[in-house]
Formats: sequence, C-alpha cells, structure tokens
Amino acid sequence: MIRRGYYGEFGGAFIPEVLSATVDDLVEAFEKARNDPAFWKDYEDIMSTYSCRPTPLTLAENLTRHFGGARIYIKREDLNHTGAHKANNVMGQGLLVKRMGKTRVIAETGAGQHGVATATMAAKFGFRCTIYMGEVDVARQRPNVFWMERLGAEVIPVKEGTRILKDAINEALRDWVTNMDDTHYVLGTACGPHPFPEMVSYFQSIIGKEARVQILERENRLPSRIYACVGGGSNALGIFSGFFDDPVELVGAEAGGKGLESGHHASRLASTDGSVGVAQGYKTYFLQDSEGQMKETHSVAAGLDYVGVSPILSSLREEGRVRFEATTDQEVLDALSLTLRKEGLVPALESAHAFAQAFKEVSDLSEDELIIINQSGRGDKDIFTIADAFEDPTWRAFIQKKAEEYSA
Ligand SMILES: *Cc1c(COP(=O)(O)O)cnc(C)c1O
Repeated sequence: MIRRGYYGEFGGAFIPEVLSATVDDLVEAFEKARNDPAFWKDYEDIMSTYSCRPTPLTLAENLTRHFGGARIYIKREDLNHTGAHKANNVMGQGLLVKRMGKTRVIAETGAGQHGVATATMAAKFGFRCTIYMGEVDVARQRPNVFWMERLGAEVIPVKEGTRILKDAINEALRDWVTNMDDTHYVLGTACGPHPFPEMVSYFQSIIGKEARVQILERENRLPSRIYACVGGGSNALGIFSGFFDDPVELVGAEAGGKGLESGHHASRLASTDGSVGVAQGYKTYFLQDSEGQMKETHSVAAGLDYVGVSPILSSLREEGRVRFEATTDQEVLDALSLTLRKEGLVPALESAHAFAQAFKEVSDLSEDELIIINQSGRGDKDIFTIADAFEDPTWRAFIQKKAEEYSA
C-alpha cells in the first residue's frame, strides 16, 4: 500500500492535532494547483518575468580542458533573483498562498537566504511576513537580516535551544499553530511534514525540466552524471527529478566539514553517523545521538549544516538511485578558487560542494561523456567567510578601518 506523503519508510506528517485541518487544506490546495495547467503557466510566467528563468546551461570550456575528462556543463541557478534556487520555491508557494486567500507568511531561516527570498516574495505579493531565525544566526548573518528588515519583514530572533536553524523551525511551527487562519508557513527546503517535501521538490523540478531540454538541444545526448549539493535537498531533487527515468548517475554532495572522521561535518547520508528518527514533523536520517538529541553540525557553507535531510533523498539512497558523497571545507575552497580563475563564475560555498565532488571524479570519465553541475547559488553573499578562509589581509584591514570609523 502506498501511504500518502511517504517515500519508502521516510516522510509522513508528524504534526500537532490542531494543525491537521490546516495541513489538509494545504494538501488539497496544492493538489488542485498541480492538476491545473494554468497554475504551472502562472508559475513559469512569474519566474521568467521576475526571476531569470529559464536559467542558462553554461559549457565550462576551461574547466573541461583543465581536467581533460568529460565535458562540464553548469546549470546556472545563481542567476535567479535573490541569487539562488530558493526563488523557485518561494515564488511557487507565494502563488499558492494567493490562491488560498491567506495574507501572512512565516518562514524559518538559518543562513538567512531563505528568509531574504521569502521576504522578497512577500513584498512582491503584498503579504505580511515574519521570519524566525536563531539568535546565533541573527548575530552572524547581519547582511541578510538587514535586507529582510528593509524588505518589510519582521525578524524574530529565537532564543530557545541552541538558537540555530532547527530551533527556528520549531518556533515557526508554533506560530503556525496559533495563526493558521490567515498564515501560511513557507518551508524552505524539501523537508518537514507532508506536503512540504513533495511541494518544494515540485517547484524545484523546473531546474531539471529545463536542464534536460537544454542538454539534449545542445548535445543531442544525456549526461553521464549530475552533481548537486545537499543541504535539505531541494536543489538536488530539483535537478535530479528531470533525469529519474534516464540512465544518468545522480550524485549528491554533502558537507564533509573538517572530514568525516573529525566528527565536525553535516553528512547524514554519505557518512555512517546518521540514523533514522522522527523530528520536526517527519521521518528521515538525522545526525542525532542515541537519545535522539540532535548533534552539532559543521560546514563552511551555512546552508548545508542542517541536521535532517529530505525524506525523498533518504528513500532514493535506500533504493540506490542517488549516490551520496561528502566533500571537506578545504576541497570546497579549492574548487571555488579554481572555478573563479578558470570560468569567472562565483559559486556559493554550498554549490561549490557539487563542484568539488565533480572535480574529484571528472578525469575518470572519457572525453565524449558529459556531466552537469548544479550551481545552486552565487557566492557574493559569502564574501566574509571566503575572505577569512583565504586570509586576505587587505580585506581584514578594510573591515578594521570600517570598525574604527564607527567607534570614532
Ligand atoms: C539554501 C541553499 C542550499 C541548500 O538547500 P537545499 O534545499 O539542499 O538545496 C544550497 N545552495 C544554496 C546556494 C542555498 O542558498
């Protein structure tokens, strides 16, 4: 029997009883929209006029020459409005909110990228907007907090627990329970209770739909492999889903942090440290201890350090349909440097995980093979982290001078 919202043994909707009517309404609204061709047309229309769809598929000629293996193509989700694939999800959910007649949106955010994307969507559609963000993240992601507030959103620092992303999710769920009548919860990735994994990957599937048409148009054949980074799993599912029925190997790159042996990483599926559990409304692999207490994660990329992962990806791993690997912070920084120098592209630190994994493998493939790397976002946002990692002395002097100006 197929249970709704389950992918193998993973998924489900473990939610408080009071929310079940609201979640049922959402499931119904989503199913209705999905079966209405006019909805996808509206979606494509707003994505092409407000964001940058279809995003190009770029041939990375210099990187291809450098490695001497398969021809490397890059799907350019970095060109979306607000700088990442997150636009695909928030604009889709925004259209759904309009259909449902709700007037307020809430969201969780870790690094702040999903918060900025949601606040942008709310400004465009005229919704009131509240963003929940762990107090620790509010302190370390000031530029994104600045933009969310300028965009008209209220940013609420969450003081519970370890004051990071998972605590922000719990707080957003609490708000939803209290304000379900006028409020929609815009979950940021393909995680959480049904229908979010299904719905978010549906909106992100636009990446894979486009990529498949583009590669066939250009090369008249399919790629051997596709690489995508995996935080919650939405950009990976987005591009992978276009190729599920094709003989294409799908590779998910997780945050290996300081190395899997170090214990400082965020790899739930490539490492042996993840275990199956139920938390935050769904069943999947979590990084947790034997008591079910969530572990601390580490990654140079703030968008990849979530403790859970999409139940759809957990299931695809069990089926052996997707291969998962972990790349370390250092490999990621090296891949980022190389991509900047060779192609003039600035991948986000998250996206650079996919690049790093591809670079480890591409020379093993033959010259008449193709690969696609999903560039989920652009790295301008990471200037503070990247400049620190490269120990750029002139950047440090610039920040110091700025600080002195303020204290003068
Ligand atoms: C948020 C983010 C991710 C991680 O989210 P997924 O749901 O795994 O896609 C990856 N890349 C960028 C640029 C992001 O902003």
